[in-house]
Amino acid sequence: MTINRREFVATAAAFGLAASGTALGAVVSDRKVQPIETKGPAALKLSSQLGIVPGKSTEEKLALMDTMGFDGVELGGDIVGNEKKYRDALANAKVKVSAICWGSHGGDLVSADAEKRKGGVAALKRVLESAGELKSTGVVFVPAFNGQTTLTNQDIRKVLLDSLPEIGEHALGCGTRVILEPLNRGEAFFLRQLADAASICRDVKSDGIAMMGDFYHMGIEETSDLGAFISAGSYLHHVHLATTEGRTLPGQDGGKRSYVDGFRGLKIIGYQDYCSFECGVRGDRAVEIPKALQFLKDHWAQA
Ligand code: MG
Repeated sequence: MTINRREFVATAAAFGLAASGTALGAVVSDRKVQPIETKGPAALKLSSQLGIVPGKSTEEKLALMDTMGFDGVELGGDIVGNEKKYRDALANAKVKVSAICWGSHGGDLVSADAEKRKGGVAALKRVLESAGELKSTGVVFVPAFNGQTTLTNQDIRKVLLDSLPEIGEHALGCGTRVILEPLNRGEAFFLRQLADAASICRDVKSDGIAMMGDFYHMGIEETSDLGAFISAGSYLHHVHLATTEGRTLPGQDGGKRSYVDGFRGLKIIGYQDYCSFECGVRGDRAVEIPKALQFLKDHWAQA
């Protein structure tokens, strides 16, 4: 197979290869390397799970997030029944609700037991209603953690393709979406890579079904952050931030975990949703969180 010059230039540009001063450069030295082609302007919108932020009350935490310069806040499944409490707290804050971190509901939606599946679907629909009320970008859903279902990988996918179209329409009716989260193999045997989650979205064909990437899990399962985000494309609607080693705030591993490659992928796909902390913190949170925010802004600038 041969690769023509035009294709080589495009490939070199996409992967940030220098097209001159290298052995390969001789082939293309008479051509200008094209800038990375993007699907539109991308933005780094930073968010955090509320529990990570110091403060005695939700109001205090939100006020500190505004001061620190966050764009969004990620809430938990406790929004169900507490919609007013959160709406009131958010009324005085600048941060908007990013995603709702929900989980698997015990793996009920992909249980071998049809009754449990029904209960799981009802619970997900209920949290989607609360998420819509709070104008959240979506509800993070893990089909099953290891040990929560006896179904096989193939059967779980079939069950999801049966149930997700209707759940997706419900989510759209609420003004939000379901966000599938791939995890590493230590936590879930089903759904480990971003492309796998994106292919489920492709097959479900509902704008109410989307997916996300978590830098912690990606560091274990993906060979390329950039490749993973490109394969996720327009289905990607949330990102979790953490180091891979230690799962702490970005930068707290001495900078070992880089976000530059992944952020380059987000720029290429024109990503405009939130990147949100889901991690532990070493040291004083009031000092360490602003450092992590700056660390990420630096990596975004380098991407
Ligand atoms: Mg996560």
